[in-house]
Amino acid sequence: TPSAEPARPGLLGRLFGRAQAEEPRRVLDDAMLESLEELLIQADMGVDTAVRVTANIAEGRFGRKISTRELRGALAEEVARIMAPVARPLPLYPQKPQVVLVVGVNGSGKTTTIGKLASQFKAAGKQVVIAAGDTFRAAAVEQLQIWGNRAGVPVLTAPEGSDPASLAFDALTRARAEGADLLMIDTAGRLQNRADLMEELAKIVRVIRKVDPTAPHNTLLVLDATTGQNAITQVEIFRKIADVSGLVMTKLDGTAKGGVLVALADRFGLPIHAIGVGEQIDDLAPFDPEEFARALVG
Ligand code: GDP
Repeated sequence: TPSAEPARPGLLGRLFGRAQAEEPRRVLDDAMLESLEELLIQADMGVDTAVRVTANIAEGRFGRKISTRELRGALAEEVARIMAPVARPLPLYPQKPQVVLVVGVNGSGKTTTIGKLASQFKAAGKQVVIAAGDTFRAAAVEQLQIWGNRAGVPVLTAPEGSDPASLAFDALTRARAEGADLLMIDTAGRLQNRADLMEELAKIVRVIRKVDPTAPHNTLLVLDATTGQNAITQVEIFRKIADVSGLVMTKLDGTAKGGVLVALADRFGLPIHAIGVGEQIDDLAPFDPEEFARALVG
């Protein structure tokens, strides 16, 4: 009789179809390993990572009977092991203000993430200032102001089309004079002209270093986790045009498409400082490797 239970979400749900009874155990043979490997690749984990994870699972288990539960546990353990080293909250330095440059393509969730971070730091008793450095998108500036209001944090703006570096300079000067703890600088996300964006970001860095030679203290790349392999390309591009120090992965709510995080962690080792889990101000969570692994595996 068909089970009334819905299919389990997550990877193994896809491998085994409907939520299966944990028995019968099946022999972990080449065919099963091949299906597993293919599944991991389809889930955006990347070929190298998928091959290695599969090999690790086969080790000591090959040719033996394994239950769905055992396989699920083994896979979750492998994923959590890869993810554990990159799970690191945004480090706070003694420098005041700590300057956080926020980069990423338009639509990745930069504005939302800045608002959420501002709100979290404010709640932790930090004085925060935001600079609306995407001066070419009036709508982006407006959105950031809305988020600033929500978080109760001032948003410094400049006239449309003006030089973002000059705004960043003014913002840092002012944040410093006011004794702020944290300055977050939004930046443009137009990848259409990579050379321009690179020059724009380099100029921001050059100019803020005139105020504080140690700035920026973090360069956060915001990535939309639902874009799959695209996220890998974006890390490659942004690492060429900025000194990316860490990631925020957005839109991890309601998606089993987080496989690309495993590929990212394995390939770049960049810290994942936080994950976006919704559109509201409190929907930013620390990255928990074990919880992530369990959700991904299903
Ligand atoms: P920006 O262009 O990079 O500044 O992106 P926005 O911050 O404007 O976000 C683009 C869209 O993604 C908006 O509709 C946001 O509400 C949505 N968004 C951002 N972060 C998340 C998230 O963690 N989860 C979900 N579900 N939506 C998000």
